[in-house]
Amino acid sequence: KKSEFGLIGLGVMGKSLTLNLANHGVEVLAYNRQAEGEEHIVPQFLSENSDKPNLRATNQLKEFISELEIPRKIMLMVNAGAAVDAVIEDLLPSLDPGDIIIDGGNSHYHDTKRRNDYLKEKGIHFVGCGVSGGEEGALKGPSMMPGGDKEAYEKIAPYLERIAARDKNDEGCCTYIGREGAGHFVKMVHNGIEYAEMQLIAETYAMLRTAGMPIDQMAELFEDWNQGDLKSYLLEITADLLTVKDGDEYLIDLIYDAAGQKGTGGWSTTAALDVGVPFSTISESVMARCLSAQKPLRIRASRLYGERPVIERDLQTLIPKIKQAYQSARVINHAIGFEMIKKTSEENNWGINLSQLARIWTNGCIIRSSLMEELVSSFKASPEEHMLLAPSFVDLLKGSRKELTEAVSEGLQMFLSLPVYAAALNYLNGFTNEQSSANIIQAQRDYFGAHTFQRKDKPLSKYFHSQWTNK
Ligand code: NDP
Repeated sequence: KKSEFGLIGLGVMGKSLTLNLANHGVEVLAYNRQAEGEEHIVPQFLSENSDKPNLRATNQLKEFISELEIPRKIMLMVNAGAAVDAVIEDLLPSLDPGDIIIDGGNSHYHDTKRRNDYLKEKGIHFVGCGVSGGEEGALKGPSMMPGGDKEAYEKIAPYLERIAARDKNDEGCCTYIGREGAGHFVKMVHNGIEYAEMQLIAETYAMLRTAGMPIDQMAELFEDWNQGDLKSYLLEITADLLTVKDGDEYLIDLIYDAAGQKGTGGWSTTAALDVGVPFSTISESVMARCLSAQKPLRIRASRLYGERPVIERDLQTLIPKIKQAYQSARVINHAIGFEMIKKTSEENNWGINLSQLARIWTNGCIIRSSLMEELVSSFKASPEEHMLLAPSFVDLLKGSRKELTEAVSEGLQMFLSLPVYAAALNYLNGFTNEQSSANIIQAQRDYFGAHTFQRKDKPLSKYFHSQWTNK
């Protein structure tokens, strides 16, 4: 009997997704190339899972292709970039029109559009599907963001929706996102939001640590915050990881403080520049990782610039302030991420439904949180509106603005680097000031480059140029 669903790439994610499909009763066939030194992958995977009669695996591509039901449904879980193109080229000669390829890796959405166009010419359907949740999510239920050919999506929806995480109404955390690379696009912005959420927790840690809070108390504090409105997967794992010891020391104190990155945060920043939307919390989180990676330089600079000022902080007054600051910075970061998605969706006519998107991010993915639950209804109530104009968020931010400002300024007085907190506060201040200082920018542009400007006292359809130097 042929298999219903094929999966290529038995790496971290591919293995977990294959098992997830098998655990849901899908007749699944996996393939991994037989690279030198990696010959054991397929036999080992099979022997570890010999109790699953509906799971098969092979390292022969011909066998893989011929053993799949038609139209073939083949999901790729290989490294993003050249590997995806290479696998597509390997498959193409043996595929039939109507077959469906799903790319589940973190591919760039421009590549996904290119592959979509290329495969369409050959009669092959292509679905670019963002997958979030890491190894465990892939096994137990990831959040899935499929984009591309709608007709093809409908054929694979029963499989993806079955293996996805469940939302609170027991619906799958998987929904059709939009044409072309829309699925990979939202996965990319998801990762951008994730970068900034991670950095906010790191900055919170820095403030509390510098103010003298011991690690074990911080773990308890984060666990306590995680019981209420601030509940999120990232806060939960941080509370957990802070408790881990290596001998007498906390492991966190032994970790070399230079952050790695694989690209999606940077890609989302570039994409934000392309549509011209403010993206500062996320771009700052990418830059914070870049600066952290310059550890040797930072060591030298810290010696030259000397110690940080020792300022006594009363933790009991600081903690509630930081808690409110953290809550508001998270709201602002989400507003920035979703606004970027809305603008790009409008630009490409993708019609992305923000409420549905928030829904599939309420479980399975790395940025799941109770705030995300709130966004499902908030975007449903006003899908066209900027998130920070929703009455509940206006109330929240008005109520915590003073605390956000004080927390940032106290942290800066301790000479801490708080780029994402500061970016959130600056966004809020910029967003809520009717009169910005951009009149100066416009005047400067016109002065040196005759770029013209509009006037508040004249119709905006008219552009003016002034002879600035004719005093
Ligand atoms: P791994 O490195 O664990 O696995 C990569 C797989 O791709 C291996 O099976 C590898 O085969 C195969 N492969 C690579 N190049 C080729 C090729 N040219 N032809 C055939 N097969 C190839 O990666 P992950 O499973 O971690 O990631 C896969 C994708 O999923 C990436 O795009 C990643 O960004 C994305 N992703 C990863 C997440 C994670 O938490 N790890 C979360 C969400 C998405 P071989 O063993 O023979 O080298």
